Amino acid sequence: MSTIAAISTGQAAGGIGIVRISGENALSVADRIFESVSGIKLEKLKGYTAAFGKVKADGKYLDEAVALVFRAPKSYTGEDVVEISCHGGLLVTKQVLRAALSNGAVPAEAGEFTKRAFLNGKMDLTAAESVMNIISAKSEQARSAALNTLDGALYKKIAEISATLKRIAAQMAAWVDYPDDEIEDLSDGQLKSALEQAKADLKQLIDRFDMGQIIIEGVETAIIGKPNVGKSTLMNMLTGYEKSIVTSVAGTTRDIVEESISLGNVVLHLADTAGLHDTEDTVEKIGVDRTVKKTDRASLVLAVFDASLKLDKEDLKIIELCRDKNAIAVINKTDLKQELDAEIINKNFKNVVYISAKSQQGIEELEKTIEKILGTADFDTSQATLMNERQLACCQEAYNNISEALTAVENGLTRDAVNVNIDIAVENLDILTGEKATESIVNEIFSQFCVGK
Ligand code: GDP
Repeated sequence: MSTIAAISTGQAAGGIGIVRISGENALSVADRIFESVSGIKLEKLKGYTAAFGKVKADGKYLDEAVALVFRAPKSYTGEDVVEISCHGGLLVTKQVLRAALSNGAVPAEAGEFTKRAFLNGKMDLTAAESVMNIISAKSEQARSAALNTLDGALYKKIAEISATLKRIAAQMAAWVDYPDDEIEDLSDGQLKSALEQAKADLKQLIDRFDMGQIIIEGVETAIIGKPNVGKSTLMNMLTGYEKSIVTSVAGTTRDIVEESISLGNVVLHLADTAGLHDTEDTVEKIGVDRTVKKTDRASLVLAVFDASLKLDKEDLKIIELCRDKNAIAVINKTDLKQELDAEIINKNFKNVVYISAKSQQGIEELEKTIEKILGTADFDTSQATLMNERQLACCQEAYNNISEALTAVENGLTRDAVNVNIDIAVENLDILTGEKATESIVNEIFSQFCVGK
């Protein structure tokens, strides 16, 4: 396999920048571009040791650097690895990379270091996938769920289900293949209880998926309300800085302003929409239409009302738009004298929160209500969590086949027939962990990674 190199730190100026080289010739490539102060060649160094020196190319010194040596198989990729930490200027790290590339390394593809780690058995596919989730995690819960997956929580659960299924499949196959030997057949009762356990375990994973996605991906949230109720002020209060234009002229927020924020243990992708009201202004009309669409697509709606005004026709339209939605009525401007008819709001919304966006009051209550509605407060990130649609599809397929196997047992079908479904279920679980994933699945997964990871 070729020796690959890439910049592993972010594409921005920073304190240090790391160029990672991995493969059979990692040490010799690094020795061609790095001169240690002590004069010792990196090839002579043991794993987990570092040398201070200079990086050079074409007889010219590029930078001072530290080279860290990892020896196969004790490295991220399982191969020999050298990480050159230089000063984190964009130009410098690019020049160091170029030096490695003109001295025997080839550019690493997206995710190729992690792909090699997977191919060399350093991690299973669920752990490899969680690496990207750790990098992109925007909330504490998301990071924790991803880290537990990297640690093997999901792998262990899937491997446990798969091992049970493999054991019963093998026992049944032996009984079918060697009828003369004294192999005990599994009783229907034993078989059913093993299958039921596997089915229940898979169902639990599948049922947790949506909540896991909320934690990992965040929630599309629309802030809606008629003009001037304080949507932009609320958005600004939540994001902590002024992005939407806040004025007291009705209809200023003409389009949709979007921002992701971390509130409590969940990330909300907020959209501050145009005020919903009757308008002849074409630009505003487009804004209003988009608001309706955005509300339809959102998983959470914050419907804002002005406490200092009586509810009017436009407010009623907002209430109508929230029907059958995961919506919270946010009564704003509680610092002013209350005129709003709370009874209508209470009748139409299960969750009502009183705030004053201007004086930043009520945010904790809003946070608690959001966690309650989404159910994220009690989500246990230490438990196995499916991290993406691919893993869900594998689990779902396994679940369907276990269900069919159970029906086959109940209908008194032959052990052979039952085994067909069990085999398919096991295969899907093996694809999930990567034990049996095809090259194209593996390539597809790692192509979504960033270069250098
Ligand atoms: P939007 O059209 O719904 O986005 O409303 P804005 O956020 O632009 O707010 C409209 C006006 O109401 C601005 O003058 C805000 O300063 C004011 N406002 C917003 N929130 C509050 C609040 O909690 N109390 C009071 N008194 N005024 C507020």
